[in-house]
Amino acid sequence: MNLKEAYSYSVRFLQGNNVDEADFKALCVCCAVAGIKNSEYSLHINDDIIHSRLAEMLWALREGEPLQYVIGKWDFYESEFCVGKGVLIPRPETEELVELVYNYAKELERPVIIDLCAGSGCIGISLAKKLNSSVYLVEKSKDAFEYLCKNSRGVENAFPINADINDMIDLPKADIIVSNPPYIKSGDLDSLQSEVKREPKIALDGGMDGLDFYRIINDKWADKLRDFGKLFLEIGNDQGKSINDILINFKNIRVKKDIYGNDRMVVADKR
Ligand code: GLN
Repeated sequence: MNLKEAYSYSVRFLQGNNVDEADFKALCVCCAVAGIKNSEYSLHINDDIIHSRLAEMLWALREGEPLQYVIGKWDFYESEFCVGKGVLIPRPETEELVELVYNYAKELERPVIIDLCAGSGCIGISLAKKLNSSVYLVEKSKDAFEYLCKNSRGVENAFPINADINDMIDLPKADIIVSNPPYIKSGDLDSLQSEVKREPKIALDGGMDGLDFYRIINDKWADKLRDFGKLFLEIGNDQGKSINDILINFKNIRVKKDIYGNDRMVVADKR
């Protein structure tokens, strides 16, 4: 079967099984099996592809597995990250957080950056690759940590740490702390989209009001910032107001919107 045939077969298979975005998902899996980028499809339509691997992927999509887990990697910011069961899939909103931190950090001299609840490492590793910096990435889940280590391989200034952000961790004081912690209310987890439910609960569940991790960051991490250090957070779109009351160890708390116009990021200064 060549790539073009595989693609039209895949679209028909996915549509026939009521999988949404059948065209896009078909393109992604066929190109993944062919080992090319989606944008290179038309140059490779006559290439032979391995049928058994494609069949496995199509079957997984039919079972409701997220596309990103099926192909095992996903583009985020300026690079590709390995993902799979047990790690949160990098989201486009989070790229905006990276850009915000980058624009601030590029003016600093060799900043120390701490990424809390790092997951796949997409935030901290993206920053480490672009900045002359030292980036410490803290992740508690063993499953996620494996991806974090894989993704940071070869990035000499990225240091993965397998720990709970509640624990004492011996780290140098930071110029920047950044985090996209779990922030969904526990009670809302059951009503999430079915594909999101396949993602690790530990990466989504922010406790009863979704704000538990911001409390931990306020209580335990403000002291880890140098004077004049800054905190950058991703938040849920309804958390912009509450975050002010939680970050009592910080000042100048600014809530910023994402491209969809939702409250999504917070920047604060050390008090
Ligand atoms: N933005 C993610 C979602 O809505 C949540 C990520 C998180 O809890 N940090 O699925």
